[in-house]
Amino acid sequence: MPELPEVEIVKQSLKKKIQHKKIKKVIVSNRNLRFKLHKNFEKILENRFVKKVLRKSKYLILGLDNSKYCIIHLGMSGTIHLMDKTKNKNTNLSFYQSPILPKKHNHIEIFFSNFKIIYNDPRRFGYFFIIKNKLELEKFFLKIGPEVLSKKLNFKYLKKKLINRKKNIKNLLLDQNFISGIGNIYSNEILFYCKIHPNKIGFKITNKEIKKLLYFSKFVIKKAIKYGGSSIRDFKNIKGSIGSFQLEFNVYDRENKKCLIKGCNGKIIKKFISNRSSFFCNICQK
Ligand SMILES: [Zn+2]
Repeated sequence: MPELPEVEIVKQSLKKKIQHKKIKKVIVSNRNLRFKLHKNFEKILENRFVKKVLRKSKYLILGLDNSKYCIIHLGMSGTIHLMDKTKNKNTNLSFYQSPILPKKHNHIEIFFSNFKIIYNDPRRFGYFFIIKNKLELEKFFLKIGPEVLSKKLNFKYLKKKLINRKKNIKNLLLDQNFISGIGNIYSNEILFYCKIHPNKIGFKITNKEIKKLLYFSKFVIKKAIKYGGSSIRDFKNIKGSIGSFQLEFNVYDRENKKCLIKGCNGKIIKKFISNRSSFFCNICQK
């Protein structure tokens, strides 16, 4: 599942390419994504300039010059590909999956003057939403929790939200109404840096731990963006699903390996917590 850093990289690449450009044509091959595509989707986008390319949490937002917005969520397996007229081999704007455009499941094509972007999604959990104006856009995002990198995610907010919570912290970090933008991979990394056991109950998190959670949530996500950003510039570093950025992980996918903290003799345990694979050090994380 694409996580926030991946969506941010897609946004940066899209922005460079399509901001201030005119959409010439839209071809839809399959309207049945997670939610059915708006019946006038093509008409709303065609002949409009893309004024802005934004990202909020894991949503991409295209601001059009008719004051409408197109929200894109990549779901579980959505990818956006860029195809120049020169047809370069590497088209994927993401860095998790294969850099090459698959033959199947290309649902939406958006044409600009000398290139097109293609939305590919084998599992079709992703979706495109049309939002009619800025007010509606704000309303849409009121429903989800503050984004991990936003100033709204602060000590006061977390303290208030953790009082009386009986869910474990791992579960809470993944709850998009609690904080938006943290997925499974990075929740493991954040809890490792904080030295908090993923099963620790929300209301038992101390003030000191809240401060660590705030600091390391932002730290881990920013680091991932920086790392992803550097690998996207050179496609040679990307080898299908095993991007080189994964070497940076401390706990994720490191089952039975030695803890990387100097002087710790612990090893990384993998355990399913609330149905998600959790990786943590059996000594550091309490
Ligand atoms: Zn350790």
